Amino acid sequence: MQTVTHLINGEITVADGRTAAVFNPSTGDVIRQVEMADQETVQQAIAAAKAALPAWRDTPPAKRAQILFRFKQLLEQHEEQIIRLISEEHGKTLEDSAGELKRGIENVDFATAAPELLKGEYSRNVGPEIDSWSDFHAVGVVAGITPFNFPAMVPLWMYPLAIACGNTFILKPSERDPSSALFIAGLFQQAGLPKGVLNVVNGDKEAVDGLIESPDVKALSFVGSTPIAEYIYREGTRRGKRVQALGGAKNHAVLMPDADLNNAASALMGAAYGSCGERCMAISVVVCVGDQIADALIEKLTPQIKTLKIGAGTERGLDMGPLVTQAHLKKVSNYVTEGVNAGARLVVDGRDLSVAGYENGFFIGGCLFDRVTPEMRIYQEEIFGPVLCIVRVASLEDAITLINAHEYGNGTCVFTNDGEVARMFANEIEVGMVGINVPLPVPASYHSFGGWKRSLFGDLYAYGPDGVRFYTRRKTITQRWIKRKRHEAAQFAFPSNN
Ligand code: NAD
Repeated sequence: MQTVTHLINGEITVADGRTAAVFNPSTGDVIRQVEMADQETVQQAIAAAKAALPAWRDTPPAKRAQILFRFKQLLEQHEEQIIRLISEEHGKTLEDSAGELKRGIENVDFATAAPELLKGEYSRNVGPEIDSWSDFHAVGVVAGITPFNFPAMVPLWMYPLAIACGNTFILKPSERDPSSALFIAGLFQQAGLPKGVLNVVNGDKEAVDGLIESPDVKALSFVGSTPIAEYIYREGTRRGKRVQALGGAKNHAVLMPDADLNNAASALMGAAYGSCGERCMAISVVVCVGDQIADALIEKLTPQIKTLKIGAGTERGLDMGPLVTQAHLKKVSNYVTEGVNAGARLVVDGRDLSVAGYENGFFIGGCLFDRVTPEMRIYQEEIFGPVLCIVRVASLEDAITLINAHEYGNGTCVFTNDGEVARMFANEIEVGMVGINVPLPVPASYHSFGGWKRSLFGDLYAYGPDGVRFYTRRKTITQRWIKRKRHEAAQFAFPSNN
């Protein structure tokens, strides 16, 4: 059986250590092993990144961009292979994997603008014969730790931009679906990236802790669940590292009585059940303003949920694949049971779904709850499965108060035809990414991605302009050339233009 290993100093390593099983969640079979890096392996990757740093940091940004352009071409040429790897190990549909890859490639596009992005700022005559400028320097060796649910896209949020900014990088992908990240890193090597600029170490907590503890790693980008995000942020910043740690979510959609119901229902189907609900921007709660719209929505959604096309992620034309692991399937099913026990009305029950030919796959059908209330665990916690909860409120103000009281603040949206409602919602909601009639408001690569509250630890969002700031350090130089032969006496007052 194939073992997914590491990429260190431009070479794929030979398997010789502890491994974990990688499943195809559609069949339930173990299809590969992934090697779990030990401390020695992590140190080798850090040493490779450190050794590659001086030359890469001094490589002209336009030259770095040329390699990124070739990398982008290779990603496009290998789309079929990459999306198969994603769907095989994650379980999401091939069309969904293709969408993920395209959004990832958009981040490579953005990073090719490195010469423009790193241009700096210049001011002439800030004082007598004094000019001043700020330029942007690489931070150094950066590590990225990524989740299972976007095994190709989230790494591409991080290292193309970090590397474009002159840093060297160590990626620690999710051990549940590691193959696409390693394959893609190989394409970057093929594009001409010097050895050691990008390294991939597979593994678990042991590998992550090695990266956190190393004084040679200067910054950490993390995307994953909130408890681990908080851990990485705390342990990283305690050691003086720059850290951005993106965490979990509970994304609410508000449905106003005046909304275009048919379109809102279609949008909610995709946003709640796409990728089997395993998206950090998935809508998991619909806040219906008034009973009438809630009843009408349930009537629209119920038949659509019951006829979702569910099957193996590697087949085409489906709506939804399986969940990622057996353990996650159990967790999601337990949440559904708990919701019933807590008194929520289970309108559609997707448990006990069996897919013909894939009886051992980790499948669950779409679930819909009505009459969910804020004290229920199915409302408070991130389920990360195809479970949509309807909460009924009396007014827009109540909807905003409810959402603002939730511990997470990643994404949200409102469905309405009223501009005043849309504007009030966008102004008052305490959430980082807001959609107006857009259910998954994932920012384009030239904006930046991040949530508020316990969905993000750190000050800067991922990718886009915030990504450039995160992966660079500002240096401000102030320079004076006094005209010839003039001598100036010492001045003891603080220099100013007065
Ligand atoms: P996870 O937190 O379990 O794992 C994320 C990464 O952390 C993996 O690489 C994993 O190996 C590592 N890790 C796990 N336990 C660790 C530990 N104890 N110490 C150190 N490292 C550890 O997350 P997941 O299940 O892979 O992904 C799903 C979660 O990610 C969801 O909560 C989802 O909302 C979140 N997510 C957030 C965003 C965002 O942008 N905010 C995007 C995607 C996913």
